[in-house]
Amino acid sequence: MTPTTEPDAAMETYLAAHHDRRVASYMDFLRIPSISALSERAADCRAAAAFVADELRAMGVEHVEISETGGLPMVYGDWLHAEGAPTVIVYGHYDVQPVDPLDLWDSPPFEPVVHAGRMLARGAADDKGQVHMHLRATEALLATRGRLPVNLRFVFEGEEESASPNFERWLIDNRDRLAADVVVISDTGFFEGNLPAITLGLRGVMHGQIDVDGPTVDLHSGSFGGAVDNPINALCGIVAALKGPDGRIRVPGFYDDVVPLDAADRAAFAALPFDEEAYRSSTGVPALVGEVGYTTLERRGARPTLDINGIWGGFQGEGTKTIVPAHAHAKVSCRLVANQDPHRVYEAFRAYVEGIAPPGVRVSVTLLGTGRPSLLPVDHPATQAAARAIERAFGRTPLYAREGGSIMAAADFGAVLDLPVVLFGFTNPDDHAHSPNESMILDNYERGIRAIAYLWDEMARDFGA
Ligand SMILES: [Zn+2]
Repeated sequence: MTPTTEPDAAMETYLAAHHDRRVASYMDFLRIPSISALSERAADCRAAAAFVADELRAMGVEHVEISETGGLPMVYGDWLHAEGAPTVIVYGHYDVQPVDPLDLWDSPPFEPVVHAGRMLARGAADDKGQVHMHLRATEALLATRGRLPVNLRFVFEGEEESASPNFERWLIDNRDRLAADVVVISDTGFFEGNLPAITLGLRGVMHGQIDVDGPTVDLHSGSFGGAVDNPINALCGIVAALKGPDGRIRVPGFYDDVVPLDAADRAAFAALPFDEEAYRSSTGVPALVGEVGYTTLERRGARPTLDINGIWGGFQGEGTKTIVPAHAHAKVSCRLVANQDPHRVYEAFRAYVEGIAPPGVRVSVTLLGTGRPSLLPVDHPATQAAARAIERAFGRTPLYAREGGSIMAAADFGAVLDLPVVLFGFTNPDDHAHSPNESMILDNYERGIRAIAYLWDEMARDFGA
């Protein structure tokens, strides 16, 4: 289906008339220091939730509620009068990352300024800017049409930047009132060069720890070295056996559930205008390496990983100490892809590590955390509706990307509600999310508001309810 290309005249008139008020409201939202990681900011997080709830109420969204989770609240609201049209859950988060180191900011993080076509402030892009775009798109549609093309349920989280500890439980507890056809998450962005893109997949994660215990205390290496096993040597042997020289993870069954790349997937990766040498040089490494048979973008977006994140044990002070240490430890994480189950991966990992543990030490493996991967096919009607909305608002067809990172909510929506999840985000790749001098290109913000409104039109006419 070809996209409508004309702008919505009534909406354009409304948005033009309300430009200054819109930018002022965006800045008011950004002034609230809603850092979920800091307990002393809890009241600010609740103020940000109240800001969103008040806006939803003012524009005519119904059943608006600050919904407690045990941690920071969710903001819920709905508008359900588009009979026969699909119902969409809209997700974003009103909390932000901490701001240190403060001295690297060009202007104070919670005093937003507009400079060179960008809004500069913590949360300008991730994710208050995108939450604000949804508010403005809904407001413009309700003001100019008196109705929405689809039914919307807004679900705005306050703990996304703190690993969403209460989100899955909240979804389970509220499952009955979250009936919908699709989830739209606006917490991602465009491809390098600020090229419009739709993120099809996100990786999941499995965090584990390996603990190796040898003698009860550090031993004299002259009296015991050579006669007892050394936990650090043993741990290094285990770590070395986790991956082969071909970059493949050697844990039996690790790849069993990985969705293989088909020709269309590989073509989509190949079509991305990716500067591999710039990517390499941005890291400072002498060469990019990874699993044989895959390109860098495929390795980063569509293949699972296993990385040692930290390793410690024994003597680390100045000079020398002749011991056989008592303990050694390693933190391990795996980035996972569709359809790997983090708990299944953990069980395979634990069984393998315990199986290769040498007899002279005790090896234990612990699970520290999980997150599921998510993937929506490019030919899914919701993906195609999103593509048409982006083409109409930004004047070019989007690229299809997969991100190496994770959004807990995306996986939770898929797992708990069994709904397709569209990642419909508009931030510029140089937005410095999580870093000093976070910014949002205001043209992305403005066109994104239109794209959101167009998406509801596209879903209403071509995404069966
Ligand atoms: Zn975010």
